[in-house]
Amino acid sequence: MDIEEARHIMSLGEVSREVKDMFEICNALWIYQGSPNEPHALLTKGGHSDAYFNVNAVTQFPNFRRRLGLDIMLKLADAGIIMKDVDVVVSSTYAATSIGQEVADYLDAMFVFTEKDGKDQIWSGRFEIPSGARVLQVEELITTLSTTEKVRGAVLKDNSDPVEFIEKDGKVVVATIVHRPSKLPMNYSSYEVMALMEVEVHNWDPEECPLCKQGSEALKPKPNWQKFLQET
Ligand SMILES: [Zn+2]
Repeated sequence: MDIEEARHIMSLGEVSREVKDMFEICNALWIYQGSPNEPHALLTKGGHSDAYFNVNAVTQFPNFRRRLGLDIMLKLADAGIIMKDVDVVVSSTYAATSIGQEVADYLDAMFVFTEKDGKDQIWSGRFEIPSGARVLQVEELITTLSTTEKVRGAVLKDNSDPVEFIEKDGKVVVATIVHRPSKLPMNYSSYEVMALMEVEVHNWDPEECPLCKQGSEALKPKPNWQKFLQET
């Protein structure tokens, strides 16, 4: 993308758009179409996958970020969670912080984030969550609940005053732009995931990957992104 394309995207403003449209405009979404000539995704942790979302490529545009924040607020409102119910929004670092801030703005809530410590999320003490605050979790992308649970654990561990996580029907609520579990519908025992876009995404160990067996090449998405976007 060059600066003219970026300016064009920003000039689109906050017109009503489907979330998937925003990802396509930003070239931020790839889903394997089935051709062996097409590569598939080699993930950071070594697994192979049939889809890839680059959420940062969308949320870096303020107009799209505002729109996504508004959509999350409306989705929460549909579930009965409105401004007066939420005191604090918490997100993990790093990619989730911009959308978390945006949702907090719409809900007129405070915004805090946990921080990375290796594979963990920790409470740095950088912020103060008031005693009795009702806390809403917001993430940008959820594959499993691993990070989401670490964020909540970090907040509960280091905030001795009672805080209350927003729940619906007895499950903790996490709002996200993308939910990409291995199976849909996905029901979690302890969490209610409220997502703007849900896509079933499959991940395999390299030796068991059916796409490799078909002859498709496993490549890291970011440095090879043009190859992923080529029509095959
Ligand atoms: Zn593979």
